[in-house]
Amino acid sequence: MYDSRKKILVTGGAGFLGSHLCDRLLEQGHEVLCVDNLFTGTKRNIEHLNGHPRFDFLRHDVTLPLFVEIDEIYNLACPASPVHYQHDPVQTTKTSVHGAINILGLAKRLKCRVLQASTSEVYGDPAIHPQTEEYWGNVNPIGPRSCYDEGKRCAETLFFDYQRQHSLQIKVARIFNTYGPRMHHADGRVVSNFIVQALTGESITLYGDGRQTRSFCYVDDLVDGLIRLMNSDPVVTGPINLGNPVEFTMSELAEKVLSITRSSSRPVFHSLPLDDPKQRQPDISKARSVLGWEPRIALDEGLTRTVDYFRDRVTELRGEP
Ligand code: NAD
Ligand code: UDP
Repeated sequence: MYDSRKKILVTGGAGFLGSHLCDRLLEQGHEVLCVDNLFTGTKRNIEHLNGHPRFDFLRHDVTLPLFVEIDEIYNLACPASPVHYQHDPVQTTKTSVHGAINILGLAKRLKCRVLQASTSEVYGDPAIHPQTEEYWGNVNPIGPRSCYDEGKRCAETLFFDYQRQHSLQIKVARIFNTYGPRMHHADGRVVSNFIVQALTGESITLYGDGRQTRSFCYVDDLVDGLIRLMNSDPVVTGPINLGNPVEFTMSELAEKVLSITRSSSRPVFHSLPLDDPKQRQPDISKARSVLGWEPRIALDEGLTRTVDYFRDRVTELRGEP
């Protein structure tokens, strides 16, 4: 796939997806510079890379300019779970928008490729199903999710304007719900919530009637998609959906988690958060035809691997003060 070793910047590299991306790029023989302010990411996610001769970590906030010399950029820095991105919504918008401006400015100076980790949230509560890249979305501009959704939409705008105005080589991935080891145990996302609740014997918190749907992609598949997109033909800019098109209701997900963990936890119903999308499923025809990519890891297998990770994590957390 690669013809030579590159020095690759991964912003948000100490987070869930970013740390797996750093691992994969190092496996491919590249040098990796991981930049992160450790807001939601942790050094724990990258501690196995300490001392790696081709890995560097820089603690830095992407809302501030960055001066480094690299060949390629994956821009992942941004809190991704509702609990985290709603904690300081103004900072979330700044991270997406000022962060994109700083990272695009860096790419412009270095004339290097830059990939943006965008999101299915740009489709909002979608009025068409499944979502294709042509759909412009149904987003509330003033609600609690807007700092994330509109921030990511503005970042996409900036990426395409830099391409049109400065001929920058851009790649925009619209990532759908992704899960796996190193998800934050307390970030409120449904997969980590259900697994931790099942393993600790707490009630499973089903929001709404549990009939809303999501499509879950295992992290290894997603990382493969990001790298394929980065290395695609220069005319391929995206936006391109990356996710697993197999759709489940949240009740079905709860049942699977309970069965894999053999837990006796019981579901309890809570009210649905404001602006919670009712359904979400990617149309990945473009990723299939342009990148030759599709997910390979089914939900049962991915959940089993994720449960294994959280079993250790829950034990560790119990031991922590
Ligand atoms: P994460 O919270 O684990 O990772 C985000 C990382 O960005 C963290 O390490 C955090 O500390 C860092 N960060 C946040 N603000 C920063 C700032 N101002 N400067 C520098 N670093 C900063 O989340 P994730 O799930 O790994 O998501 C990674 C990217 O993928 C995000 O951009 C997210 O929007 C996007 N994405 C993720 C999903 C998913 O399901 N996981 C879905 C769609 C899009
Ligand atoms: N959800 C749930 N119980 C939880 C956490 C989330 O039922 O403990 C639901 C949530 O309302 C949403 C879905 O699971 O419908 C996915 O939520 P998540 O926050 O993981 O992702 P997003 O809403 O951003 O897709």
